[in-house]
Amino acid sequence: MTFLERSREPEAHKHWYGDMEASYVYSTGIAGERFFSTLRDKGKILGATCPKCKKTVLPPRMYCEVCFSEMGDWVDVGKEGRVDTFSIAQVGVGGEPLEEPVVYGLIRFPKVEGGLVHIIAAKPEKVKIGMKVKAKLRPRKERSGSILDIESFKPH
Ligand SMILES: [Zn+2]
Repeated sequence: MTFLERSREPEAHKHWYGDMEASYVYSTGIAGERFFSTLRDKGKILGATCPKCKKTVLPPRMYCEVCFSEMGDWVDVGKEGRVDTFSIAQVGVGGEPLEEPVVYGLIRFPKVEGGLVHIIAAKPEKVKIGMKVKAKLRPRKERSGSILDIESFKPH
């Protein structure tokens, strides 16, 4: 069927076979750019603090989602946090079984709203909610300005 043809049986079009091309570019934005370049160049994990609410958020944003103020100070939230929640992956992104399970967790930092989802470098049976972890960064020369500049979070 082409665009010039007209269908009078819409119930006949419940599915369509074919390939759909999908490519995209995701921009990190101004806050993301600063976050990733600071992580790469200085090895620091930055949050942003609202001058009105005094809340620090991670990942950092340009504007406060509560009061819409422009975020003021950018702060180093440190490398130590706690596991807020976690999941154990048994298969890879392609559905292939993994040789060793990988633990992914949400890491929260003291006095910071939000957090980072990342790999927890520990045996699944050793990971507990609330456990202390510390970011292990890749060596400076291996960093590329991505979240994987943090190699993992290790029990601390
Ligand atoms: Zn605010």
